[in-house]
Amino acid sequence: MTFKELGLIQPIIKALDLKGYKNPTPIQEQSIPILLRGKDLLGVAQTGTGKTAAFALPIVQHIYNQPKSKGHRRIKALIVTPTRELAIQINDNFTAYAKFTNLRNTVIFGGVKQGAQTNELRKGIDILVATPGRLLDLMNQGYISLNDIQHFVLDEADHMLDMGFIHDIKKLLAKLPHKRQSLFFSATMPPTIVSLSQKILGDFEKVSIKPKQATAERVEQGVYFVTKRNKIKLLIHILETGDADSVLVFSRTKHGADKIVRLLARADIKAAAIHGNKSQNARQRALKHFKQGETRVLVATDIAARGIDVSDLSLVINYDLPNVSETYVHRIGRTGRASASGVALSFCMMDERPYLKDIQKLINQKIPVVKEHPFVDDGTEEPPKELQQKKQGQSRSRKPDRRKRPYPKKKNNRNNRNHPKS
Ligand code: AMP
Repeated sequence: MTFKELGLIQPIIKALDLKGYKNPTPIQEQSIPILLRGKDLLGVAQTGTGKTAAFALPIVQHIYNQPKSKGHRRIKALIVTPTRELAIQINDNFTAYAKFTNLRNTVIFGGVKQGAQTNELRKGIDILVATPGRLLDLMNQGYISLNDIQHFVLDEADHMLDMGFIHDIKKLLAKLPHKRQSLFFSATMPPTIVSLSQKILGDFEKVSIKPKQATAERVEQGVYFVTKRNKIKLLIHILETGDADSVLVFSRTKHGADKIVRLLARADIKAAAIHGNKSQNARQRALKHFKQGETRVLVATDIAARGIDVSDLSLVINYDLPNVSETYVHRIGRTGRASASGVALSFCMMDERPYLKDIQKLINQKIPVVKEHPFVDDGTEEPPKELQQKKQGQSRSRKPDRRKRPYPKKKNNRNNRNHPKS
C-alpha cells in the first residue's frame, strides 16, 4: 500500500518523500481512509506506531482542500496532548507534513512566558497543538476561540487522565462546536477512558494497533546480571567499548538519574538527565542537545521520557529494571521506532530478578543473558540483609517491595538520607 493509494494528495506525498517515509505504517494504512471520509476515530495505539501522521495527514488534507476563506485565519484543527515534549513533536510533524501547503500551525504549552505564543496566535493559525492548561488559560484571556474547530484530536488520553487533566478536558469539551470530527487516541482502554471516549466521539470507527509484540520482536535485547555496585562500571564499559551514537538510559528515580550523570562525567562521558525536578526549559534543552547529537547519553525517568521521539536512537539501557512490565515494553519501544531496529540492554541485580521474570512473561520471550562481560554477577552476592529477612518472613510474596529502602535509614544525617556509601 502506498500513501497515494490511501487517497493522499500530491503536496502531502511530496512532503512525506522529503521526510523519507516510503510506506504507511499499519495505523496509517487503517486510519487515513477512515479519516479522509470524515468519520470519527478511536485509535488504540501509542507513540512510536506512526500515529501522529495517521491523524495529521488527513487533517492537513481536509483543510488544504477547503476553499480559502477571506480575512483572518481561524483555528480549524485542535490537537490536545499531555506534555510539552509531545506537543512540540506533534507540531514539528505538522510543519513537515504541511510544508507544501500554505497552512499555518503553532504550538502552545505552559511553563514558559506566553508572549511568543500569543504573537503567533495573533497572526492567524489553521492548526493548533496544545497542552490543556495553557490552552484553557489563553482561551480565558481571549486569545483563542474554538468556534471554528472542525477537527479535534485528544492524544494520549490515558496519560492525560493519569496527569490529572480530566477537569480541563471536560471544560474544553463544553467549548467545542458540536459539529466536528473527533479523534481519540489512547494506549490503554480502562473503563474511565472508554467512558471519556463516549463523551467525545460521535459515529466512530476503531483502529487498534498492538505494539507489544511487534516492538519486542523488532528490538534486539539482552540482560546483564550485575550487582548494584557494578552497574555504573558496566554502564561506563558499554559506553566506552560500544559504538552506539545516542543512548537513552532509564533510571527508576530522579535522584538516581542525577547520580548516573555525575558518575559518567567523572569517566569523561557527557550525559544529561531529564526528570520531573528539572525545569521545562532544562528538559527541553537536554532533549534538543541529545537529538542534535551533542549529548550522546540521556538519562531519564519513565515519566520524563514519555513520548520522546528520537528516530535514530540506537541503544536503550535499563539501568534499573521497571517493576511494571508494560513499562519495559514502552522503554524499549524508544529504540526500533517505526522502521529502524535497535538494541535494548537491561541491568538486573539480584532483587530485580522477579521483575525480569514478569517482563519475560509479558513479552512471551526469554531475554538472552549476556554472560561475557567484566562485571558479571555470578549470583554469589547475597541480597541485602533486609531483603533476606523479608523473604523469610513473607515467604508467599516473591516480589520485594521497592518502595521500602533495602537499607536501614540513618538517623540525624540529612546528607546521607537515602544512600549509604557504596
Ligand atoms: P509517532 O508514533 O507518530 O510518534 O511516530 C514515530 C516515528 O515514526 C516518528 O519519528 C515518525 O517520524 C516516524 N514515522 C511515522 N510514519 C512513518 C512512515 N510511514 N515511515 C517511516 N517513518 C515514519
